[in-house]
Amino acid sequence: MELEFDYVIIGAGSAGCVLANRLSADGKNRVLVLEAGGSDRRFWIQTPIGYGKTFYDAAVNWKYLTEPEPGINNRRSYWPRGKVVGGSSSINAMVYIRGQQQDYDDWRDLGNPGWGWQDVLPYFKKSETYAGGGDDFRGCDGPLYVNNPSAEYHPLCRQFFEAAQQQGFGVNPDFNGADQEGVGYYQITTRDGRRMSAARAYLYPALKRNNCELITHAQVTRIRFSGRVATGVEFVHKGRTRQVEARREVIVSAGAINSPQILQLSGIGDPELLKDFGIEPVTGLPGVGRNLQDHLDYCIYYKSLVPTLNNRLYPWWGKLFAGAQYLLFRNGPLSLSVNQCGGFLRSHPSRPRPNIQMYFAAITYTTAPPGQRPLMRPDPYPGFLNSIGQTRPTSRGHLQIDSADPFAPVTINPNYLSTDEDLAQMLEGAKLLRALAKTPALAQIIDEEMRPGPGVQTDDELIEDIRNRADTVFHPSCTCMMGPDPKTAVVDTNCRVYGVERLRVVDTSVFPTLISGNTNGPTIMVAEKASDLILDGRERQSFQ
Ligand SMILES: Cc1cc2nc3c(=O)[nH]c(=O)nc-3n(C[C@H](O)[C@H](O)[C@H](O)COP(=O)(O)OP(=O)(O)OC[C@H]3O[C@@H](n4cnc5c(N)ncnc54)[C@H](O)[C@@H]3O)c2cc1C
Repeated sequence: MELEFDYVIIGAGSAGCVLANRLSADGKNRVLVLEAGGSDRRFWIQTPIGYGKTFYDAAVNWKYLTEPEPGINNRRSYWPRGKVVGGSSSINAMVYIRGQQQDYDDWRDLGNPGWGWQDVLPYFKKSETYAGGGDDFRGCDGPLYVNNPSAEYHPLCRQFFEAAQQQGFGVNPDFNGADQEGVGYYQITTRDGRRMSAARAYLYPALKRNNCELITHAQVTRIRFSGRVATGVEFVHKGRTRQVEARREVIVSAGAINSPQILQLSGIGDPELLKDFGIEPVTGLPGVGRNLQDHLDYCIYYKSLVPTLNNRLYPWWGKLFAGAQYLLFRNGPLSLSVNQCGGFLRSHPSRPRPNIQMYFAAITYTTAPPGQRPLMRPDPYPGFLNSIGQTRPTSRGHLQIDSADPFAPVTINPNYLSTDEDLAQMLEGAKLLRALAKTPALAQIIDEEMRPGPGVQTDDELIEDIRNRADTVFHPSCTCMMGPDPKTAVVDTNCRVYGVERLRVVDTSVFPTLISGNTNGPTIMVAEKASDLILDGRERQSFQ
């Protein structure tokens, strides 16, 4: 075999970077990371606002499209995914959210002991250094810097907080502290004005060790087996097919789209599907690619009577000023996310816990269709937006290979808004946006509602508008679900793939259910915990 390592990690994304670091830390293992994309040393990746530029950039992005979706009136949803060192953590919007404590207790109660809130909290803390300091909930010496630049955020955020209070909601100083509920500022993964991707936090420090290596532009085409034991992987690098042996384990961390794809291409999945494409099954696991969950977001746009970020970022001299400010001082709007504040709220008082995530942004923009130009162009008038998304959708989709060709994209059917429950919660959320706009704090600064506008009033009209305009906020997950039953689940509580040996999946795809919030922080937590599980297993193996 031309290459031999102890652990071979597929994908240098949020999870893969954590694993590379933790598995190589004690110097006892040789670790190889294979990444399909290239270097992240690019200005628009390192610059926080560059998110808008990488959104459609095929040089760093897989640029997936779903099938036409009946729930969103047969529109296709565009799904960016990082194809670059750092994975999606290199192109994401940097909002840091852990989710609700109950989300993890739900994971445990679904038959996953060891994954309840008290079990995962130590790993959230271990992963981070929080700008606000450590306490019972927050970490102070982990690799991932979590910033709280609220002093730099737009003053309109405070107007939003006032409106929320007038509507009866509380202000929460830390969504990632004791309780998530309320409105507040978003914390972001940046440091010194630069993006804090998982690569910056975890991978680059690991690559300084002589037992950790990264090969970029290396697309894994299949996992190799001897019987049911994973022995290594095959990958294409610079046009050449190469093989690497994994002496201990292969770990698939290719993300919620590509991890199930790699499993299916390697003979792990629904045997009927595999047969259709002439792939010899290694083990039958019908859950691969099923159980797909994602967050859908619905947005209302307002023309404002007071200045917003549009006033700073639309005119050329404003852009020039913001650029100079960033280059000279590493601060200003280019050093931040556009998602500066929001909330986790109950769309109706009868809801037992927050079921809606809100994003309030002091900017409005026209979004370009995929591939035409950078994502956002601020509008020429002052404006702001407010949006809602259901935190724990009940709709379940699926994705699957459409060919045995590892370079062909998978077919994605998210099945958005396919339950009455999801539609009901989105409708309640849309009405909540309207109610907030009527509070004195917001009413006094709204010139007019631009989209959807006054023509949309009744429940039916709102539902139609939700189906016409709601779209992903890029959190696909659960496609290699962790669970107790191999008839539906793909991995056990140790992230080991059922039915085979020496193979794990560790990334967003193993979430049993989607958590209430953004998925990067929780994915990093999963990889932190999985690293310990893998290293514990190694100790046991060496005693056998
Ligand atoms: C545009 C966008 C905005 C987002 N905003 C936020 C946000 O503000 N906050 C937040 O918390 N989350 C956000 N997310 C989601 C979050 O970033 C992801 O959930 C998380 O990064 C996923 O981590 P992962 O390890 O599962 O996969 P990824 O980080 O996507 O990593 C998978 C890696 O595997 C590589 N790979 C795939 N297939 C192969 C193969 N065959 N061979 C080799 N390598 C392969 C990929 O190139 C990639 O580098 C956003 C995502 C996107 C796309």
